[in-house]
Amino acid sequence: MPDFRTRVLVVGAGQSGCVLALELARNGVPSVLLERAARPPRRPELAVLRAAVRDCPLIDLRAGWTFTGLRLDPDRTVATVIDRGTRGRHVIEAEYLAGCDGGQSTVRRSLAVDLEDALPLDVSRILEVTPWDGALGIARTYRRGTAFLVGESAHRFHPPSSSPDLCLGDAADLGTKLAAVLTGGGSPGLLDSYEGERRPRAVLEREALVRTLAPRTT
Ligand SMILES: Cc1cc2nc3c(=O)[nH]c(=O)nc-3n(C[C@H](O)[C@H](O)[C@H](O)COP(=O)(O)OP(=O)(O)OC[C@H]3O[C@@H](n4cnc5c(N)ncnc54)[C@H](O)[C@@H]3O)c2cc1C
Repeated sequence: MPDFRTRVLVVGAGQSGCVLALELARNGVPSVLLERAARPPRRPELAVLRAAVRDCPLIDLRAGWTFTGLRLDPDRTVATVIDRGTRGRHVIEAEYLAGCDGGQSTVRRSLAVDLEDALPLDVSRILEVTPWDGALGIARTYRRGTAFLVGESAHRFHPPSSSPDLCLGDAADLGTKLAAVLTGGGSPGLLDSYEGERRPRAVLEREALVRTLAPRTT
């Protein structure tokens, strides 16, 4: 038996997760928004979004709650989470789940979705070393059943600051479509267009980055 039921479970309260939850709320759809970090964000643009989330009665923000895994049923997703405060384990059943949990996405791994990389790059032109592998990776699919990948969980680029527009676009697009389906204004088939519209944009963005980093021929 689940401990909670929600229409949409959003994993990760970064920019993508906050915008997605706010877009759902703007259309009257409630959500549970999980955030692993217990502390408020330091980045100013994210602090503004979090304040809006906290002020929104349709968003149940659970800070300090970590998503750990899921089961995909034909008509729902059942997620397990840990509340860092109480160390309690909870089961949350959702009609839809959105993985907005960043480049190292646990949701993506739970769905067994690989990243497709772009090579070759000229490493002499990479000025900064980060612990990221697959720094220009795009998820092979953005959807499995009732679960979706959004923002940097779907495309992991370096530098990450090159991708906020892409992340926000994903979140707004999926939020609008989920809201339409959940409020009866759109058929479930509408959700098929999310990957078709958003993944090609990530591919275009990656091509632009690859052109910047590609080996010089002259
Ligand atoms: C170094 C750096 C510089 C950046 N500079 C800029 C900038 O100048 N301007 C700008 O607009 N944006 C900037 N960004 C933001 C970035 O470009 C993305 O647009 C932004 O991070 C949106 O990504 P996201 O919400 O998809 O993922 P993230 O921002 O990575 O958010 C993911 C969230 O999910 C949470 N999470 C992860 N795993 C779990 C889990 N298992 N359970 C629950 N929660 C989880 C994380 O704690 C995090 O809050 C920067 C990011 C980085 C890392």
